[in-house]
Amino acid sequence: MIAILSRECTLKQKADVVRLLESDGYRVTVGVRGDETIVGVLGAAPPGLAERLATMPGVRETRHDVPPYALVSRAYHPETTRVRASGVTIGGDEIVVIAGPCSVESEAQIRSIARSVAASGARMLRGGAFKPRTSPYGFQGMGEDGLRLLAAAGEETGLPVVSEVVGPEDVELCARYVDVLQIGARSMQNFRLLAACGRQPKPVLIKRSHMATIDEFLNAAEYVVSHGNPRVILCERGIRTFETATRNTLDVSAVPVLRERSHLPVIVDPSHAAGKREWVGALSRAAVAAGADGLLVEVHDDPERAVSDGRQSLTIEGFEAMMRGVRRIAEAVDRTVVGPARA
Ligand code: PEP
Ligand code: MN
Repeated sequence: MIAILSRECTLKQKADVVRLLESDGYRVTVGVRGDETIVGVLGAAPPGLAERLATMPGVRETRHDVPPYALVSRAYHPETTRVRASGVTIGGDEIVVIAGPCSVESEAQIRSIARSVAASGARMLRGGAFKPRTSPYGFQGMGEDGLRLLAAAGEETGLPVVSEVVGPEDVELCARYVDVLQIGARSMQNFRLLAACGRQPKPVLIKRSHMATIDEFLNAAEYVVSHGNPRVILCERGIRTFETATRNTLDVSAVPVLRERSHLPVIVDPSHAAGKREWVGALSRAAVAAGADGLLVEVHDDPERAVSDGRQSLTIEGFEAMMRGVRRIAEAVDRTVVGPARA
């Protein structure tokens, strides 16, 4: 439930509304839309509360038709949030491209890929050190050694780094090395992991589960924010449908829907949606055209020998070509792509 305060509402009247709610034990959020103030009640509001608030001085109207994910919802916070991660801002005019291998495999591999993607305009470096694999016999990642190599490659190239955390017990360790913590599609409803990421200050990139509705996705983001961390980035990465030609079906419509429902920045991972590198460029362009704030793309210097997701990883030349296409679309939708373009 939200209470929209009148334009003439005084500071004292606003404080009285918030105090009344808090003294009754409600968690409250206060947002601004133009010159209007919106007071939101987190969680279910009991019958009668809206009527009680509506009689208070300074309250113009109360509304029930708002979603339960108050903290991430545009209904409560109309202005778009910009998430800043070690000098890079996601959610502004710039299309931020995050690129790198599925898994960190060796020092030589991550350093070489980092240099190449930086030269082509990537603004952040990705690389998995803890890998959530479908099979227990698949490569599980290099663990802390992988994080150390990723952080070193990021430092050398000046790119902030993103890596996945798979369990709540690893959040502190991962946060020591990375600039952005990734919560993978399979972990999107690991509520203890979401809460643990919410209790630390580094930005959190949440991937939509391939089995989740947009509502479930936004509720997952709400877990992180409600535990204290507002620095959340949403990532659409393809959902499971009847179609088997692609690894997943990229839900391009999720981009405008998420942007309408939430004030959080939205990025797209075309790699895990396509499953095949030949389609990654087209999906990247579609994502940017649809309004995405950034891309998360898998790139490998020797994809045939990659330990995971080689088939969907762009080659270095493929990534350069993708960036050229993305720059053209970005211009067409009045966005920018900062960073060097290799000649
Ligand atoms: C990944 O980014 O390598 C990954 C495992 O992605 P997802 O969680 O979307 O499957
Ligand atoms: Mn992968």
